[in-house]
Amino acid sequence: MTDFVLSPPPIPSVAVAGSASRFPVRRIFCVGRNYAEHTREMGHDPDREPPFFFQKNPADLNTTGEFPYPPQSSDVHHEAEVAVFLKSGGTNIPIENALDHVYGYALSLDMTRRDLQGVAKKMGRPWEIGKAFAASAPVGPIHTVEDVGHLDAGKLVLKVNGDVKQEGDLNQMIWKVPEMIAYLSQYYTLAPGDVILSGTPAGVGPVEQGDEMNIAVEGLGEMTIRVT
Ligand code: MN
Repeated sequence: MTDFVLSPPPIPSVAVAGSASRFPVRRIFCVGRNYAEHTREMGHDPDREPPFFFQKNPADLNTTGEFPYPPQSSDVHHEAEVAVFLKSGGTNIPIENALDHVYGYALSLDMTRRDLQGVAKKMGRPWEIGKAFAASAPVGPIHTVEDVGHLDAGKLVLKVNGDVKQEGDLNQMIWKVPEMIAYLSQYYTLAPGDVILSGTPAGVGPVEQGDEMNIAVEGLGEMTIRVT
């Protein structure tokens, strides 16, 4: 057994629906501006420029059903997304084979400290402080490709306290899942355990302590997260 100088941290993982097994997470890539209406609401032109990605930390995964309001922000937004879990990877993956690497899909939220992200954008700084913070990636159980197939279409709805805030369809993604896998694999050697958050439709907005966020995606069921 390796003699670590500290107890190794736990391996971040996500439950697999209908199973006692868990999926170990290696990296979390998140695509920006992947729905035209959301791109416009953030003040950008959704013309098909190349996709861009940022990362959250695997340790930011949140499977507790609660979202603790983070420090140093007074404008924390929900972004309802779908998480794509890779069972295998590689470099320069062709679009035609990209879906072969997908293990399954889950409901997820890309929680964002919008005020801190705004300052970072304005100053030309990295986004991490707005995106990669503790518990910032709530995620539901993984539905395997075996069980649900591939999700290239399906309604996505996010409600806060019962009011619909975000509504879209997975078929509105500017960059489809196979394209994102192929593109990422040109820059990174993708590997088993990698996760891609597939972007959010329009309607992002703030949450407050006590709010209940409910995300539902056709084929993936629904999940409720309480802001604490
Ligand atoms: Mn996002």
